[in-house]
Amino acid sequence: MTLYTMVGAGISSSEASALRTRLVAWHDAMVAHERKIRAGRTGRVCDEECPHAEARHLWSEAVETFGEGAQGLTFLRTRAMDAAKASRRVIPSDEARVRTATAEV
Ligand SMILES: [Zn+2]
Repeated sequence: MTLYTMVGAGISSSEASALRTRLVAWHDAMVAHERKIRAGRTGRVCDEECPHAEARHLWSEAVETFGEGAQGLTFLRTRAMDAAKASRRVIPSDEARVRTATAEV
């Protein structure tokens, strides 16, 4: 994920590179997590330890570490915002999409 390795390009502290590594790992975990949610196992996949909860921590760390550069991480930002809105709910847009798909079947 070039997006994560490029974020805050001018910042070369060990803290910044460690955070980039965690962001790449988180992205993969989140993609897999959302796939599970879409597969219909909603309610069992989201808990205190799921990537949604982690998104909030990572986002605040990214803003702290990369400043303005963090704004380009839209995938992380939207997940962090959704998690902050309602930690127990899945992403509203995905919910709507699942409902539409079900109605069409
Ligand atoms: Zn979740």
